[in-house]
Amino acid sequence: MTMVMNNNTAENNGTDVVLIGAGIMSATLGMMLKELNPDLKIEVLERLDGAAAESSDAWNNAGTGHSAFCELNYTPEKPDGSIDISKAVRIAESFEISKQFWAYLIKNNIIELPNSFIRNIPHISFVWGNDNVDFLRKRYEAMVQCHLFDEMVYTEDREQLKEWIPLVMEGRDTSEPVAATRMDLGTDVNFGALTRSMFDYLQKKCGVETHFGHEVRKLKQMGDGRWRITVKDLQTGEKRKMYTRYVFIGAGGGALPLLEKSKIPEGKGYGGFPVSGQWLRCINRSVIEKHEAKVYGKAAVGSPPMSVPHLDTRYINGKRELLFGPYAGFSTKFLKRGSFMDLPKSIKPTNLRPMISAGLQNMSLTKYLIDQVRQSPLDRIEALKDFYPDARPEDWKLEVAGQRVQIIKKDADKGGVLEFGTEVVSGANCTMAALLGASPGASTAVSIMLSLLERCFMHRINTEEWQVKLKEMIPSYGQSLAGNPALLDQVRSYTSEVLGLVPATAKR
Ligand SMILES: Cc1cc2nc3c(=O)[nH]c(=O)nc-3n(C[C@H](O)[C@H](O)[C@H](O)COP(=O)(O)OP(=O)(O)OC[C@H]3O[C@@H](n4cnc5c(N)ncnc54)[C@H](O)[C@@H]3O)c2cc1C
Repeated sequence: MTMVMNNNTAENNGTDVVLIGAGIMSATLGMMLKELNPDLKIEVLERLDGAAAESSDAWNNAGTGHSAFCELNYTPEKPDGSIDISKAVRIAESFEISKQFWAYLIKNNIIELPNSFIRNIPHISFVWGNDNVDFLRKRYEAMVQCHLFDEMVYTEDREQLKEWIPLVMEGRDTSEPVAATRMDLGTDVNFGALTRSMFDYLQKKCGVETHFGHEVRKLKQMGDGRWRITVKDLQTGEKRKMYTRYVFIGAGGGALPLLEKSKIPEGKGYGGFPVSGQWLRCINRSVIEKHEAKVYGKAAVGSPPMSVPHLDTRYINGKRELLFGPYAGFSTKFLKRGSFMDLPKSIKPTNLRPMISAGLQNMSLTKYLIDQVRQSPLDRIEALKDFYPDARPEDWKLEVAGQRVQIIKKDADKGGVLEFGTEVVSGANCTMAALLGASPGASTAVSIMLSLLERCFMHRINTEEWQVKLKEMIPSYGQSLAGNPALLDQVRSYTSEVLGLVPATAKR
């Protein structure tokens, strides 16, 4: 749907906030700002015809509520052999923050969501081979020390594993040592449904205008501090200018080119490395019904950490599905519906050195991605058989996943480094911010937007009014959950009740 732009507000008086992109990040920021300050005027600009049509759509991401329960790349092994769980703790805490915000939206009838937008699906890490079994056992022992993970169960017992994950165990070599951990608190989230619900609400709010089919082409800071945004109506071809006091570039893979156009010094030196993705989607209902878990394995050598393969039960539009992947690949597009010129056009004199340095340091990643692109359908089934030994090619169909643009940034020692997280880049007296990177992504949208508010709305965040509202939206706001077991239990039982999740259970 394309809404007509109101020239009076947009061109003459300007608006308070422009959100570029209608994915989960802009939706979250828009919702938070509107709850904190109902008088704000917000305009949303989205190049596609609807919200959540890129990475935030359920079919374009894996829908894992990232809590570090099963993702082995969040718990690296240190040189002394011990396991570092600090990143896992941060991610698990962030997801608890997201759940509190979503519970606030539902409890207060702010948004209507299908019951199935979030569901408990056990999160299982599954490994094979002696070294991997040792790693998983050590990881389990380290993680259960922290209250966030103390419901984790570990087993090497094949009979137990057959109960948990029959597809994974059927037809498996019995001489091979295997092990798994299980967290029943794991979730599958339809981030697309969530995002669309938030935009449905925002569009009805007084002071919010949403313009689909409108692509942002340029942005420039004016002498008076406001931003002038040039936007093209993709239906009529008409270009217009609009003015705003604050701009958020929540354009997903399209954020880097817009950050470059903003010309803020803080944005200089950033580059992007696009990683594409494909899934195998199961089309045999009897196979789909036999599996109920998200099963994550260990990443292959050289593979990007977010491309660890997993065999996932999904609930999309109320229907149970089964996906395997993602198979990573290389494409020069920054968005699934982007242009092959995205990567070449993003290369500037200011980021050329970081990009070359990062490329040279990551030759194994480049080789891995090239190998992935060259995979035949049979190679893909072979990879699936590591997880599901009896898999039959006729039960699976190839689908294209969303595009992820990893961050390349300047580094004083190495020239440039490739990073796999997300980063908020802000500048011009915090009148603009852009979100770069893709992982852990949608699950941590609320924490990312809180950090953006703390940085860019500094003068408001510490007022009593905002503090009270923030604590109403996120009861644990400002407190550590890892260090406060009673508070964690309290927020988990509150969010489980409101979101219809199973309460934390005793160890199986
Ligand atoms: C394969 C894959 C698996 C993933 N798995 C998970 C997972 O399991 N769990 C998880 O939490 N996260 C996961 N993620 C990450 C998650 O999907 C993203 O972090 C999140 O959706 C990003 O939201 P966003 O709003 O920043 O971007 P998007 O949802 O991509 O939205 C950006 C929007 O900006 C628009 N846009 C771009 N340029 C312009 C422009 N110039 N003008 C106007 N509009 C523009 C785009 O059309 C798009 O609609 C995964 C991602 C991928 C690709």
